[in-house]
Amino acid sequence: MELNNLTIKEAHGLLTEKQISAKDLAESVLGAIKSRDADIHAYLEVFGGDAIAEALALDARIAEGDHISMLAGIPLAIKDNILIKGKRVSAASRMLETYRASYDATVIERLKKEGALFVGRTNMDEFAMGSSTENSAFGATKNPHDTSRVPGGSSGGSAAAVAAFECLAALGSDTGGSIRQPAALCGVVGLKPTYGSVSRSGLIAMASSLDQIGPITRSVEDAEIVFDAIRGHDPLDSTTSERAYEKETKPLQQMRLGVPKEYFVGGLDPEIKQTIEAAIEIFQNQGVAIEEVSLPHTEHALSVYYVLMPAEVSANLARFDGIRYGLSEPADKLFDVYAKTRERGFGPEARRRIILGSYVLSAGYYDAYYTKAQKVRALIRKDFESVFERVDAIISPTTPTTAFRFGEKTNDPLSMYLEDIYTVPANLAGVPALSIPAGFSKEKLPIGLQLMGRIFDEGTLFALGKAFESAKQ
Ligand code: GLN
Repeated sequence: MELNNLTIKEAHGLLTEKQISAKDLAESVLGAIKSRDADIHAYLEVFGGDAIAEALALDARIAEGDHISMLAGIPLAIKDNILIKGKRVSAASRMLETYRASYDATVIERLKKEGALFVGRTNMDEFAMGSSTENSAFGATKNPHDTSRVPGGSSGGSAAAVAAFECLAALGSDTGGSIRQPAALCGVVGLKPTYGSVSRSGLIAMASSLDQIGPITRSVEDAEIVFDAIRGHDPLDSTTSERAYEKETKPLQQMRLGVPKEYFVGGLDPEIKQTIEAAIEIFQNQGVAIEEVSLPHTEHALSVYYVLMPAEVSANLARFDGIRYGLSEPADKLFDVYAKTRERGFGPEARRRIILGSYVLSAGYYDAYYTKAQKVRALIRKDFESVFERVDAIISPTTPTTAFRFGEKTNDPLSMYLEDIYTVPANLAGVPALSIPAGFSKEKLPIGLQLMGRIFDEGTLFALGKAFESAKQ
C-alpha cells in the first residue's frame, strides 16, 4: 500500500487503528516528493524535518491512547500566499522572495489545532494572477497527467501536488477560478467556498471582495473535511459569517439541478461538452430533476471581473513599496525607491493589472468603468438569486478547454483570461462552487465539472458531488 495515495479519510482510519504511524505517512509523502518533484515542481519549499518531527510527536500521543482528530498527522500542502508563522511566504514573487510570515493565517491556526502536518509551500502564479503557474517568478509547475502541459493556475502547485500524490490534500485560493480550474486540469476536487465562510486573515490579498481560501483534495468527502476545519467566523476578517452550512440535505430525488444555457456556447471544447452532458445523465439517473435555466448576464462576467479585480489588485499591491515589506531597491529619492523596487519586484502580469486597475480607478474613468462594473456585478448576483429560487444547484463545465501546452497562451493575455469564463461568475456572486473530476479526453487529459450552489449551501454541493463520485465508480 502506498500511503501517499490515501485519502484523508482512509489515512485517518489507519492511524486510529494503529495500522500505520504518522511517521510512515509523512515519510511516504516526502519520498514521493523526492522522487517526483524535481520534474513536477509543485513545491517552492518542502518542510521535511518539521513534518517528521511533528509526526513523531503525534505518534507518541497515539501510543498514549489519545484520541486524534480527523486531520491529525495528515500531510497537507499550502499555497504560497497563505502565511505560516516563521516560514517564508513569497506569493511566487521576487517582491517577497525572502519575506517571512510573522503570524499564522487563521486557516493555518485552525489546521494546526487539528494536528495537520504542513509538508511545504506550493508554487502559484505571481500574486495569484494567472491560469497556468507560468507567471511564477520561480519557474512553472507541470501537469502530472502530461508534463508538456500546464497544471492550471493560479493554485497550480497545490493541484499538481494532490494529483501527483505528493501530499494528501492542499489549500489553494480562488479569486476567479484559481482553485477550481487547476483542480479540473489536474483531475482532482476543488472547492471555492461561499464568500465570507473562510477567513482571509493571513492570505496575501489579491482582490479582497472575491478572494476565498479553499481545499484541493482527491475526494469530495476530503474537501468537506478540510472545509469543516477551516471555515467559520473570525474576528480578524470582518467579512466572515457565523452562518454554517447544513450537512443534512434533502434526498437527491427531491433536488433540482439547473443547466445554464449561456454556458454551453461557442469556445467550449466538444469533448468537455459531451462529458458534462454524460454527467447530467448520471444525475438524472439518480433521480435529480434537470432543468434548463438562464443566467442572462453571463456574457458580461469576464469583463466585469477584469475591471473590478485589477482595481482591487492595484489597491492591495500598493503596500509593496520597498519600505514596509520584502524587496527594497536603494535609491537617493524616496520616489525612486518605490519605482525601482516595484519595477524589479513585480513580473509583467502583476504590472499589467496594476496599470489596468489604476486606470479604471482614475478620476476621469472611475464612473465609466469601476462604478459601471459594480452595477453589472449586482445584476450577475441577481441572476443567481433568481435561478436559485427554482433549482438547488447549477451544473456546468469548470473550464472551456483541457490542460494546454506551455507557452500556448502566454503571449495572448486575452486567451488566458478566457480560461476563467465559467469560474468567475461564482466569485462575483459570492456563491460556493465545487469542481469534481468528470472524465478524460481522448488525449487522457482530465475534465472537470462544476457545481454552483446557494450561498452557505456547500452541503448540497457535497451531497451531489458524492453521489456523482459513487455513481462513476
Ligand atoms: N485566472 C484568474 C486570474 O488570472 C483567477 C485568479 C485567481 O482566482 N486567483 O485572475
